[in-house]
Amino acid sequence: MPASKTETGEFRDAIIIGAGVTGIYQLKRLLDLGLNAIVLEAAADLGGTWYNNRYPGARFDSESVSYGYSFSREVLDEWHWKERFSPQPENLRYLNFVADKFDLRRHMTFGFRVASTIFDDAEGLWTVTGEDGRELRCRYLVLALGLLSVPTQPRLEGLDRFKGQMFHTHAWPHQPVDLAGKRVAVIGTGATGIQVISAIANEVAELTVFQRRPNWAAPLGNGPISEAEMTDIRSRYDEIFEICDRSPGGFVHESPVEGFYDVTPEQRRAFWDSLYDAPGFGIWMGNYREIFTDDAANAELSTYIAERIRRRVNDPQVAEKLIPKDHGFGVQRVPLESKYYEVYNLPHVRLVDLSETPIQRVTETGVETAAEAFEFDIIVFATGFDAILGGFDRVDIRGAGGRRLRDDWRDGPSTYLGMLANGFPNLLIATGPQSASASANYPRGIELMVEWCTGLIQYAQEHNVRTFEATQEAQTDWSEHVKSMYSLVLMRKAKSWFTGYNSNIEGREHGKTRYLVYNGGQPRYRRRINRVADAGYAGVKFDPPIEDENARPAVKAPEASTAAK
Ligand code: NAP
Repeated sequence: MPASKTETGEFRDAIIIGAGVTGIYQLKRLLDLGLNAIVLEAAADLGGTWYNNRYPGARFDSESVSYGYSFSREVLDEWHWKERFSPQPENLRYLNFVADKFDLRRHMTFGFRVASTIFDDAEGLWTVTGEDGRELRCRYLVLALGLLSVPTQPRLEGLDRFKGQMFHTHAWPHQPVDLAGKRVAVIGTGATGIQVISAIANEVAELTVFQRRPNWAAPLGNGPISEAEMTDIRSRYDEIFEICDRSPGGFVHESPVEGFYDVTPEQRRAFWDSLYDAPGFGIWMGNYREIFTDDAANAELSTYIAERIRRRVNDPQVAEKLIPKDHGFGVQRVPLESKYYEVYNLPHVRLVDLSETPIQRVTETGVETAAEAFEFDIIVFATGFDAILGGFDRVDIRGAGGRRLRDDWRDGPSTYLGMLANGFPNLLIATGPQSASASANYPRGIELMVEWCTGLIQYAQEHNVRTFEATQEAQTDWSEHVKSMYSLVLMRKAKSWFTGYNSNIEGREHGKTRYLVYNGGQPRYRRRINRVADAGYAGVKFDPPIEDENARPAVKAPEASTAAK
């Protein structure tokens, strides 16, 4: 089915911006309500993250079976995940499968980059304008802009001089890149860098990794999923999603009942041996709860992981460079890897420590550090994203009275439940800051939010409400709550995108904490948003006001899994 061709001047009940994992599901739910809804997407096709990030090695590091949508039994029954941690091409096929199954593509317009969204106070409607000048209007505006959709790269002298190929991992060319026989540089060793380095190391002639700060990484443990295993998984989907619902991060891993201090050091090591050697995030998400909050517990685990790294890297000096010294294990987002550490045992791979010899400039032929000039055919920037806020900042979003979201969020975002913003009527943020989606297994987080946003729109429709928005008081309370949750976790100390750090954006280099994610865990988040819905959307101001808030039961996000029973 072809995508929709949107004409200027059209009116829609709802416009969703972004055709990624969130936008696809949000569209389905609004069409279910009978709304005339459309998705606008800047890229040439749907898929968001899984459309853009085509670098070698790009794959889930959540278990595939926990990453799929849970809302449709048919989708669960029909889709076969082929690998435990599914690769990008397969993930894109999956999202297309879902979109085609529900005939969603004809409600999507591609190649439409939104420049501004402006609320008209008199009419109570939003005007959405594309960079090409097309103008649409709608009653409800839903932002599904993605959390990691705006890449950032170093502000280096000479970037425009390099004569070879150069790209950010997010913009890896759609045509295959011939790496054989090439001298390749990778700058950045986050989750993306670690995936791409491991995937290309055996293909290239020379690989130079420019590392500024190492990350703690642990084995992914990928493998195929057979037909028989998939049949078993299908019979256990309800159980799988129930575990995800109980776990703070929405994963299939749960912390043990015993605490760190309930067991002996020997028992802890035996437990960690089993977690480290098992697939997935168990070593992080299935570990003792104290590793997230208690310095001593975290330090003991970090010592253990450092030992495992030392065992895998032949050169002790290189091993030491790969072991983080400035933060403990799990305090930043843990990349999962496939033989990453062993890459540094290959004779044609070199690790350059930028903390000792920073990059000074890019030249026509390569990169110069403080110590040396390097020549390359290809430079890959795996330097991360303007996380969470980038997508919002690049659209001119103006609410009531011309108020700009960008200005309101200049010193950090402030939202109600991560989904509403005071002063921005009928604007819903289906994935964004201060929500559970930012800190959880993504689809598990966004399903909750999409359901809640859909419920609020339905409620507004049933009550003939013209506009709704968060009250300032409710928003301040939520933002304070989000902030207070940071004080409980060691993550608050990290220089990472969870705290708003980004060395490539002016003003964000020094790591002044921005409270970007909700650290209270998914179960607590779910309880909270459901309570709000049950109370007739407490903290939401309706115009005209709803006299008897309890007249009708509110539609709410599901108590537990949204898996179709
Ligand atoms: P990232 O975690 O922000 O890592 C960026 C890396 O680039 C860091 O090593 C950083 O070093 C380095 N860097 C940035 N600017 C630099 C500069 N000017 N000079 C030298 N080095 C520089 O970004 P990412 O790896 O793209 O990952 C972002 C997030 O995407 C992850 O946390 C994860 O949530 C998601 N992701 C998920 C998957 C998956 O699900 N499988 C895969 C990949 C990514 P410093 O640490 O010193 O700043």
